Amino acid sequence: MLPEPANCRLCGSASERIRSSKLRGFRYTCPSCGSFGIESAALAGLGANASIQQDLAHLRAYGLLPLIHRDKQGVSVGPGRV
Ligand SMILES: [Zn+2]
Repeated sequence: MLPEPANCRLCGSASERIRSSKLRGFRYTCPSCGSFGIESAALAGLGANASIQQDLAHLRAYGLLPLIHRDKQGVSVGPGRV
C-alpha cells in the first residue's frame, strides 16, 4: 500500500494516509499533528478536537504511536499496537 494524499482529520492540513489492517483503519502523517492511527469507526464525525490533539502529543512524548478509536463513550485516544 502506498500513502495517499489526504487532509488531516484533526486539523485539515494537507497530509498523507496509508491504510493499515493492523490499525483497522488508517495511519496519518500530518505536518502539524505528527503520525497517528485512526480506526475507520472513529473517522465519521471526527473534527478539530483540542483534547484529542493534546492526547496525541502526550503519547508521542512517550514514543508511542497514538491510536484514535471509538467506543461507547465516544472517540478516545490510546497507545497504538504497532
Ligand atoms: Zn493534523
